[in-house]
Amino acid sequence: MNVEELREKFESDLKHMQETCLHKKLSKWMDYMWAPGHFGLPVKVCLHCGKIIKTKKSAPLITKVTKVMQNARNEFKPTRGLKE
Ligand SMILES: [Zn+2]
Repeated sequence: MNVEELREKFESDLKHMQETCLHKKLSKWMDYMWAPGHFGLPVKVCLHCGKIIKTKKSAPLITKVTKVMQNARNEFKPTRGLKE
């Protein structure tokens, strides 16, 4: 068996496991990292098969960052009458 076949076997086994799993035990909310250093929305995954069962619709962190950025933009709005 070569690496490609092993990968395919793993993926089909995992798929089968996730499709037949009852997802009885879920993790706590955790940040889903879709790539190193890139966080998505908080998720709950099944502790048995690892499938993502729940995704939070809104992430408080992202909302907070957006607000800070909006505030910063307002603060740095060019003000008229400052030309010398
Ligand atoms: Zn499961």
